Amino acid sequence: MAELSLTLSERHTADFEMIGNGGFAPLTGFQGSADWERVCSEMRTADGEYWPIPITLATDLDCAVGDVVELSSDEGKKLGRITVEEIWERDVKREAEQVYGTTDEAHPGVAAIYEEGNRMIAGPIEVDALPDHDEAFMRRYKTPAEHKADFEARGWKKIVAFQTRNPIHRAHEYLTKAALETCDGLFIHPLIGKTKAGDIPAEVRMRCYEVLMENYYPEDRVVLGVKPAKMHYAGPREAVLHAIVRRNYGATHFIVGRDHAGAGDYYGTYDAQKIFDEIDIEELGIEPLMFEHTFWCNECEGLASNKTCPHDQEARLFLSGTKVREMLGNGERPPHEFSRDEVADILIDAYKED
Ligand SMILES: [Zn+2]
Repeated sequence: MAELSLTLSERHTADFEMIGNGGFAPLTGFQGSADWERVCSEMRTADGEYWPIPITLATDLDCAVGDVVELSSDEGKKLGRITVEEIWERDVKREAEQVYGTTDEAHPGVAAIYEEGNRMIAGPIEVDALPDHDEAFMRRYKTPAEHKADFEARGWKKIVAFQTRNPIHRAHEYLTKAALETCDGLFIHPLIGKTKAGDIPAEVRMRCYEVLMENYYPEDRVVLGVKPAKMHYAGPREAVLHAIVRRNYGATHFIVGRDHAGAGDYYGTYDAQKIFDEIDIEELGIEPLMFEHTFWCNECEGLASNKTCPHDQEARLFLSGTKVREMLGNGERPPHEFSRDEVADILIDAYKED
């Protein structure tokens, strides 16, 4: 019999990696119909553990229960295999409604699942290798078990994780430090993935974090890692997944900002924070720390949030993303109160090379 093989999509490759490196524990494979059913309706696996988004493998591959299918990454690297335990069909509208809160095809997460098709294969995976990433990401790459061991070796008990997709400007530096005031260590955990046109290149992004750590954080209180996952854009449920992943990496606390993992106008500003009200935090195993929008305030003469600053908008420094990109593109540093000069300079240099 010919060997069965399947090249995974970019999303499935990322999911394979997170299952394979332990970041998606307790998952050990792609989920079947019993898991899907309970994840959609109750945010739990069939075994009853918290799990907010189905991690499933859609394919038309001609195979049968009991088959072993060799899996390659979207770039063709051989990763391992799946033993097919179930072949099933999902109700994708129901998944869209229950997990993403909308069946609108314009929603990026919903569009992605509609496009995949609905025939699923499920079963445990066996991992020979993990996908490759940019060198800039690989130099910080550790598995969840390795980060856990590192935190233990540092003697940290309370570890707060911060998820980001962008360079960290002062508003976010402030909230990570506000969280660190009551914790032993800070785990900066940017999402990584293939760099696409228009993205900030991997090396530039990592240099932005590194230069900030070198100059503005105490070395013995902060660890930079990378999270090799793709966004599902599931808003509130995605925030829960982000928290579970950081628990698996050894964090005890997780920063949840406004509009966390949002997509367009599909979710309310605080939905990603409110969803944790329905969750037993002790059972989840990681505590969310909720933050308001943060900014520089001229009257406060410091960084602040809606919670701590009584002044009105005129006193607060606000720059849109477009405005910041425009300034950097013109070789101009944003105000000192908005961005550290070291970070601004790296971004200005990157724009010059473009
Ligand atoms: Zn103020």
